[in-house]
Amino acid sequence: MLYYAKMKKILLLNPPGSRKFLRDQYCSSATKADYYWPAVDLLVLSGILSEHFELEVCDAIAEAVDEKTLIEKIISSSYYALISLSSSASMDEDFALFKAIKARSKTIIVINAGFTRDNSKKYLKQHDFIDAVIIDYIKFGIVDYLREKPGPYQGLCAKANKQIIEQCDVLELNTGFSYPVPRHELFALDKYYLPQARKRPFTCCLISYGCKYGCTYCSSGSIGFKLRNIDNIILELKAIKALGISEVHFPDFTFTADQEHARKLCQAMLDADLRLSWDCLTRVDCFDIDTAILMKKAGAHTIQFGIETQNEQLLKKMAKPISNQQVRRCFLICKQLALETIGFFIIGLPGEDAQSIKKSINFACELNCDYAAFSVYVPDYGSLLRKQLEAMDPLISSIKNFDRTMYPVIDNQILSRQEIWQLRDYALKKFYLRPKYIWQQIKKLNSLEKIKAICKMGYSVIKGANSLKVSKILKESK
Ligand code: SF4
Repeated sequence: MLYYAKMKKILLLNPPGSRKFLRDQYCSSATKADYYWPAVDLLVLSGILSEHFELEVCDAIAEAVDEKTLIEKIISSSYYALISLSSSASMDEDFALFKAIKARSKTIIVINAGFTRDNSKKYLKQHDFIDAVIIDYIKFGIVDYLREKPGPYQGLCAKANKQIIEQCDVLELNTGFSYPVPRHELFALDKYYLPQARKRPFTCCLISYGCKYGCTYCSSGSIGFKLRNIDNIILELKAIKALGISEVHFPDFTFTADQEHARKLCQAMLDADLRLSWDCLTRVDCFDIDTAILMKKAGAHTIQFGIETQNEQLLKKMAKPISNQQVRRCFLICKQLALETIGFFIIGLPGEDAQSIKKSINFACELNCDYAAFSVYVPDYGSLLRKQLEAMDPLISSIKNFDRTMYPVIDNQILSRQEIWQLRDYALKKFYLRPKYIWQQIKKLNSLEKIKAICKMGYSVIKGANSLKVSKILKESK
């Protein structure tokens, strides 16, 4: 019976797209930038399913596989099931693809996406071509479902015996979890790029699930928060190393959300003598010098911080009560330890005026991050702020496609979309075209990867150039 089950062939898919959609950890956006990384949801699923099924992976965006070629491949390969990412930004075209596949095959179609999690039953009822929706991708119910065992299935909402059955305890907190080692070798790792990565190919590894915070402009806090067992992480990192890969991107929303867990992990990486080079994301209110020292020793080279704005009052209102003093302290720690930094800023948060945005741009320059990302505000699906905006303006609920790096989809009550866009361009130029910054980058050009990263970044700054009318906006907003 086990042998029979093993013969079933499953395709893990990141579908093609009319734009470069980022579908990862239930997030949804599109990007014009070059960066792209393997979706950690698919990596986790490759581990969970690997002991029971024959697996193939297709990241149609990274591998530039078009829809027609993909459909032919799926039909001719007779996959038993297709487990696909989707996102609110790409929903219409993803669903058209699934429908076309179902029309020509009996392949079971399982969706993993943020927008289907809250209303999984509704999506299953409304769409004949979807057989199941993943609600929690670190749960093992998917294995039982695909092995045709009776439900309910943990972490899954599925059609079975003419019924829709669902089982998920999404909000359990801090329970340790483990899963079999993901099959990194099945992913086209040479197709991915991140500017901060020191080496290629690189891959991703998860140390936690979800986020324990609840910033109102973000949806990640709504999926709960769990920590992964450290022995299990080390097992995966050893497997990555054995594949000859020594660069890892930890895509967790907050690597140091539990500082003790982060410190234990770094110590375990040192004890295992892994010698990996890596980067991660975190928050300034859960990052200190002791943790940073251990992270550096364990191979960290770049830390990414979500700063969003220097406007402390606004941050407090959005349930992210961090202070500029905390931000300065963290950047100083990183500088002292020669850790590179990436600062994320949001331009045009609801209710923020041009003066406040300009202060945030100056703050980014003062911090002198190695890279700064200036995104426009988008009403993230599932976030509390989106719900608040929808209550004020029902038209917001029709906004499904957005891209943080593109023209804003909404104004912010004070600034028009065009003004927000001009301020975003101003931010890029003001930050990246500083002589001090350019000189610092030139001094760091010690590898081919660095030279490529700087050229790509310079190109995107120049490409993003719009007419600058910021002084006018600033004058008018006084
Ligand atoms: S912005 Fe970051 S810290 Fe806040 S909820 Fe989202 S992922 Fe968590």
